[in-house]
Amino acid sequence: MKSSQNFTSNFLKSLQTNLIKMKKDIEGKVSRLKKNDPFIKEYKQDGFRNVDALEEEVADLDEHKETNAILFDLRKTIKDINDTLVRIRNGKYGVCEECSSKINSKRLLAYPTAKYCILCEKKFEKKV
Ligand SMILES: [Zn+2]
Repeated sequence: MKSSQNFTSNFLKSLQTNLIKMKKDIEGKVSRLKKNDPFIKEYKQDGFRNVDALEEEVADLDEHKETNAILFDLRKTIKDINDTLVRIRNGKYGVCEECSSKINSKRLLAYPTAKYCILCEKKFEKKV
């Protein structure tokens, strides 16, 4: 079963441009976050990490954890964007990876990196 969405090449081109722009924004955020991570920052400045007073250590650790959680999400988004760019190139954009049916265009507008149609997405959510 093979189906492809009937997107115009203009639509796909502007989508590609937007995705690449999004990716650059996110990569910028990633490098800013890394710079502000107290653990990484001190390594860079002094070559080792200073051990601060306990309260400061706790605050640093919290910030470090939070930064890591955000970085994890951002990296996932970058991966989704890369996957989407590959699907555009392969002419598979907007086709559900699970059941090969067309993904609702409203869903794609709201969530341009969607890999699955709503039905499959719901199926996966239930499994988790
Ligand atoms: Zn599906």
